[in-house]
Amino acid sequence: MDLPKFSLDAEILSQEQMAENVYRMTVHCPQIAGVAQPGTFVQMRLLGGDVLLRRPLGIAEAEREKGTLSFLYRVLGKGTAAFSRLRPGAQVNLLGPLGHGFCMDLHRPLLVGGGMGLSPLLFYARCMEKRADVLMGGRHAGEMFWTELFKPYVSKSYLATDDGSLGSKGFAVSLLPKLLEKGEYDAVIACGPEIMMERAAEMAKAAGIPCQVSLEKRMACGLGACLSCSVDASDGTRKKVCKDGPVFWAEEVFP
Ligand SMILES: Cc1cc2nc3c(=O)[nH]c(=O)nc-3n(C[C@H](O)[C@H](O)[C@H](O)COP(=O)(O)OP(=O)(O)OC[C@H]3O[C@@H](n4cnc5c(N)ncnc54)[C@H](O)[C@@H]3O)c2cc1C
Repeated sequence: MDLPKFSLDAEILSQEQMAENVYRMTVHCPQIAGVAQPGTFVQMRLLGGDVLLRRPLGIAEAEREKGTLSFLYRVLGKGTAAFSRLRPGAQVNLLGPLGHGFCMDLHRPLLVGGGMGLSPLLFYARCMEKRADVLMGGRHAGEMFWTELFKPYVSKSYLATDDGSLGSKGFAVSLLPKLLEKGEYDAVIACGPEIMMERAAEMAKAAGIPCQVSLEKRMACGLGACLSCSVDASDGTRKKVCKDGPVFWAEEVFP
């Protein structure tokens, strides 16, 4: 079912730096906060300035009672750098919520996230009310502010960093076979680098449980009109990440 969509100016309530080049922006936008589902995203646009195109950002938190939305984003180029310079009281335009979110009909999912891919999983974990565990991967301890963010919402956290400065050394997915061995989980929900999601999907399949992945493609309109985010699907069709996704069952998009 498609969610109602809004295009609104939203006031920034806070902007915090979480790690080097990573920020959390919280805005007041009760209309989108009221209907957003974990895994859906917004297209954010600056009001004024020289960045005209919208930039897609996953929803990291939606607090319906307060009418707020939070985004966790890494500064990569011109658009995200401009977002990071905005201060409380400034406004951004939001188009959303867009796309289809994660399956909510699960009892004991294992969330697998790498880097900024952990952002939409945070919203999901919160809605699962401690029924989910999370396996997190990051480059180094300095980027693992995620552990504190997830703590109130998950049952257990597992952690790996590329350099071993926190948790196990290496890629998060290398811990996955052992976690799935117990047969405790009814699905894997993955978001992060594509290679990580592909491995997670293979391991979930080997363990006999379904897997959802959230794809990240460069996109323009976010509404399924421009086709710039199309990907080849396993059934030979083309899928639009913005409209058919960004969340897919792994077998829909990975061979
Ligand atoms: C559905 C969706 C949800 C997203 N959610 C988040 C989120 O929660 N947090 C977050 O930090 N980022 C998220 N992103 C990525 C974010 O949209 C891009 O980082 C942002 O648009 C870059 O804009 P920019 O102007 O800063 O960089 P640009 O100047 O546009 O690009 C800078 C560099 O980043 C590369 N790049 C830009 N966009 C992407 C992309 N989508 N995938 C891979 N490489 C890219 C460019 O090729 C270039 O090398 C999401 C993307 C999608 C499609």
